[in-house]
Amino acid sequence: MTADPLFERVALIGIGLIGSSLALNIKANGLARHVAIATRRKETLDKAEELALGDAYHLDAADAVKDADLVILCVPVGICGAITREIAPHLKAGTIVSDVGSVKGAVIEQMRPHLPAGVHFVPAHPLAGTEQSGPESGFLELFRDRWSILTPPEGTDPAAIEKVEAFWRGCGSNVETMTAEHHDLVLAIVSHVPHLIAYNIVGTAADLEEVTQSEVVKFSASGFRDFTRIAASDPTMWRDVFLTNREAVLEMLARFSEDLATLQRAIRWGDGQTLFDLFTRTRAIRRNVIEAGQDTAKPNFGREPAGGPKAGS
Ligand code: NAP
Repeated sequence: MTADPLFERVALIGIGLIGSSLALNIKANGLARHVAIATRRKETLDKAEELALGDAYHLDAADAVKDADLVILCVPVGICGAITREIAPHLKAGTIVSDVGSVKGAVIEQMRPHLPAGVHFVPAHPLAGTEQSGPESGFLELFRDRWSILTPPEGTDPAAIEKVEAFWRGCGSNVETMTAEHHDLVLAIVSHVPHLIAYNIVGTAADLEEVTQSEVVKFSASGFRDFTRIAASDPTMWRDVFLTNREAVLEMLARFSEDLATLQRAIRWGDGQTLFDLFTRTRAIRRNVIEAGQDTAKPNFGREPAGGPKAGS
């Protein structure tokens, strides 16, 4: 660890994919001297301890936050308010409270009223994740070259924002600051609606009677399986995302439905030009994603064939 870590004591409340990836980064990159971990279930806490993710382990979040300089809530967004109410009386003056929730407006609304004066609130959202959950799913590189968005409410102490920004940069992330409202709108289109589409298409295929379930699975490499990865994401987390980012998701879904109707019409009327033009534009967007370093240019996302690499490769 470097002589002067950013924080003396960090408390992570929730130790699933995001919490455990943060714990690994704090340790590997010397971001704090002491990490206290709290989670709801004993089996999750035992797993975190077995993986040596922290220095102290608690079933009560209030115990973990005592003396912490930075507290990060790494739990589903729907529970952030209740946990903040629990820990609030135990926070010392000057502590920075943050979170990693995928929705920001609702999280701020739930958490802020409970936070005492003298505690700094800097909400954050790392745009990095996988479809896995739990403390064993975390890994050190999760945030590397991804974006983390900070949405500090107006009037937040700039020094606290700077420390949270330095923390995320210390995890290998790029950082941008914006309003919670803007964040929720942007995320509705880049993350929330795509997840809803994946959940929906996998659900539709599962319900189809004329194509058997086994055929859906057998021929899934034709495109379907890429949706199944997203649709395997944690049900609690995603239920909470849609319930708390309702307005922005409904707004983007309305736009999506209109555009889908245009495609439906083009197919019905044999309007190949409309289809071709759109597919050409979307191909260019894929190139932009690769140029921005947000995915690999390798075919098929660089996947090895099932069963491992081909002999000689
Ligand atoms: P996860 O792997 O499922 O872990 C969730 C953690 O929260 C576990 O420690 C769990 O405790 C705890 N928890 C769940 N329900 C709880 C409740 N009702 N009361 C108290 N604790 C509860 O989740 P994650 O993927 O790390 O996601 C955590 C947060 O990160 C969410 O707000 C999500 O929006 C955000 N996020 C996720 C991703 C992603 O791709 N996964 C990306 C960016 C941000 P127990 O195991 O002890 O029950």
